[in-house]
Amino acid sequence: MPGFELFGIEEKKEVQDVLDNGVLMRYGFDGMRNGHYKALQLERDLASKMGAKHAQVVSSGTAALSVALASAGVGAGDEVIMPTFTFVASFESILAIGAVPVLCDIDATLTLDPKAAEAAITPKTKVIMPVHMCGSMADLKALKNICDTHNLILLEDACQAIGGSFDGISLGNYGHLGCFSFDYVKTITCGEGGAVITNSDTYAANADKYQDHGHDHVGTDRGAESHPFLGYNYRLSEMNAAVGIAQLKKMDTIISIQQKYYNRIRTELSNINDISFRVVPETGIENYSFISFFLPTEDLARKAHKALGTHGVDACFYWFDNNWHYYKKWEHLMNQHSLGKLSNEIQKGLQANQRSFPASDSWMGRTISCLIKVGWTEDEVNERAEKMATAIRSVI
Ligand SMILES: *Cc1c(COP(=O)(O)O)cnc(C)c1O
Repeated sequence: MPGFELFGIEEKKEVQDVLDNGVLMRYGFDGMRNGHYKALQLERDLASKMGAKHAQVVSSGTAALSVALASAGVGAGDEVIMPTFTFVASFESILAIGAVPVLCDIDATLTLDPKAAEAAITPKTKVIMPVHMCGSMADLKALKNICDTHNLILLEDACQAIGGSFDGISLGNYGHLGCFSFDYVKTITCGEGGAVITNSDTYAANADKYQDHGHDHVGTDRGAESHPFLGYNYRLSEMNAAVGIAQLKKMDTIISIQQKYYNRIRTELSNINDISFRVVPETGIENYSFISFFLPTEDLARKAHKALGTHGVDACFYWFDNNWHYYKKWEHLMNQHSLGKLSNEIQKGLQANQRSFPASDSWMGRTISCLIKVGWTEDEVNERAEKMATAIRSVI
């Protein structure tokens, strides 16, 4: 997910616009800013690129998730269904607004299993939050049907899958709300940053205010603005937004390079009978930031992962043992290690997660994901593909 690989003159030029007038903040200072509204422009560019009615940029992907939840009226004690395989930001963003993360199994898509999600619904459930991990998506059609039946909000965490699509719709724009991260290792980056997209005028208006202290953004005197409801500060700076404008313009190029390299590696690995690939739901198109595949057993997956390393193939991940991305290592969540007291609702709600998830374990135990980098040459990709096949064959 290598936006950082392509930092160049285009990003520098956008940032220079901001440096030239010195207005580093997105609101106010209209006379000084020489017509440059970088955060606003990034929102317009992003909404148009995703085919969404509204985009709200914020300071991180984690912030985007919290802002999305808050904008939809999710609060204390409400339950949000999220997958066992994701980034820690998923539960952090839920806890931050007082709601309760409810862990749920994944399936062969490596994302939320719709059947398990439906089974996890309780009277307190407000949101189903699939996370499109490693460039590919959950079965959004099935999840949308479940949300419609139970009157729930579908919030897509598309932080790792920007540029992919489902049923011809950009990932993030299929649900009621979608979130992106522009942190330094994502497909496109602002250094730090994130965004919420939605087609709901109400959610968009709420997000606009909530991410800026609840200010109503009416009139031209910031100091005179009133506050229809409580908010917070999740604003994105003009410097970060400027980088994002240049990066978004490179997104299609990034994805087409990733697709070419992904296909080369996939063709090579397809010759190995014992390997199968992560399932992409029908009508889904990945953003090709990773190639993820299953070995027949956990033991073989561990051996294959090790062999990839010894054969010099870097950037391959065995998520099952990963501290950041899989529930088994989230001891701080399971044991409720927080600096201050957690609310009673959260303390009680988190107890439901104190169980094992054998279906997730059976998929993740067999999964290896390898990053696709845009900086490789074609020769390097060919060599890499062959090394990967040799490494895997050496253990099976
Ligand atoms: C990166 C990421 C986030 C959080 O984004 P930050 O900008 O780093 O806060 C959330 N969810 C997923 C799946 C991510 O990969």
